[in-house]
Amino acid sequence: MTKKPTSRGPARVPGKASTVRSTSASASTAKSPSGSTRSLTVTLRKSHKKTTSQQAWLARQLNDPYVVAAKAQGWRSRAAFKLIELDDKFKLIKPESRVVDLGAAPGGWTQVAIKRGALEVVGVDLLPMDKIAGAKLIEGDFNDPEMPGILTGLLGGKADLVLSDMAPNTTGHAATDHLRIIALAEMALEFAMEILAPGGAFVAKVFQGGTEKDMLAPMKKHFAVVRHAKPPASRKESSELYVVATGFRGGRA
Ligand code: SAM
Repeated sequence: MTKKPTSRGPARVPGKASTVRSTSASASTAKSPSGSTRSLTVTLRKSHKKTTSQQAWLARQLNDPYVVAAKAQGWRSRAAFKLIELDDKFKLIKPESRVVDLGAAPGGWTQVAIKRGALEVVGVDLLPMDKIAGAKLIEGDFNDPEMPGILTGLLGGKADLVLSDMAPNTTGHAATDHLRIIALAEMALEFAMEILAPGGAFVAKVFQGGTEKDMLAPMKKHFAVVRHAKPPASRKESSELYVVATGFRGGRA
């Protein structure tokens, strides 16, 4: 059972300080950014069932201050902090906002939108999600031709904010993965322009690497302001970043 989120305001994220040695038996202590001394090294017993990359992933999770903070604060994903940081910067979620969260599972962004006081929030994902108080959740593909009608019906009108943290299953081949995520983001943009009210905003995950620039021309045409942002919670080693388009000019669909 997931804890209810405890943070109303900006992200309370501990500084990045810890490291994990996946096969070490020792624990060490170090000073956190707040100055307190605490044990920081999480150790894993050598597992013969896990591959090296699985062990590395687990070690990274255990050492990630955003993962730890998400758990402590009741967010369903570390990704929740990315939306918190984007919203702190761009003031996207307003009390009157009708919000659509595309690729919502497991629900971190939907939780944030609710917690930050949006009027209506609908989350859509291919995967099933546990209920989130105050939100409406749809299990399905956002590309379903009936989805725009279903969403505007559930929202009680057009959307003020369309969020897309969608990611396709990765193939491990960087160029292919990049093309797939850009294709998804472009479809999300088309979808957003169909259901956004004039003045609305669109946020989507893209990956650096060239083709995300193709999205800029239509975005600049249909939105007053288009910016790129890499929230601190987005891992530095990842080429992930977000496009934030505000001031939808309307006139589509
Ligand atoms: N923002 C989420 C959070 O905070 O919990 C995490 C989203 S996760 C990175 C990306 C999600 O996009 C996955 O759950 C995946 O199932 C979903 N997704 C990918 N393609 C989709 C599609 N065509 N329709 C709906 N959801 C999709």
